Amino acid sequence: MRVDVDEPQAVEEFWNGMREAAAAAARHQDPNLYRAIVKIGKSALAQGVELVPSSGYFLQCPVCSAQSGQTCVNAPGHPLNEGKLHPERIALSAQAIRGEVPLPEPLA
Ligand SMILES: [Zn+2]
Repeated sequence: MRVDVDEPQAVEEFWNGMREAAAAAARHQDPNLYRAIVKIGKSALAQGVELVPSSGYFLQCPVCSAQSGQTCVNAPGHPLNEGKLHPERIALSAQAIRGEVPLPEPLA
């Protein structure tokens, strides 16, 4: 597949691929794969790839405990961002990928 970094959807596509890989890591309970994905995410950020809300899929949700790669589920008092992810999860994921907070255990 040809990847054009100037393509408007390229960043979204990149994180979509990462989300699918994170989902596979959760499904197979593979922490090494998960850590590899996080490493790729960090180096992408270092090269100027922007974070998008779907990068929240990386981590288990601190609100509803949805696993890596899974869509959030309703929790009382915590509205879902565009119906898919809790804002708390997106914020935590961005901080963790940037290295501002330690990575939570990815696989419950
Ligand atoms: Zn959630």
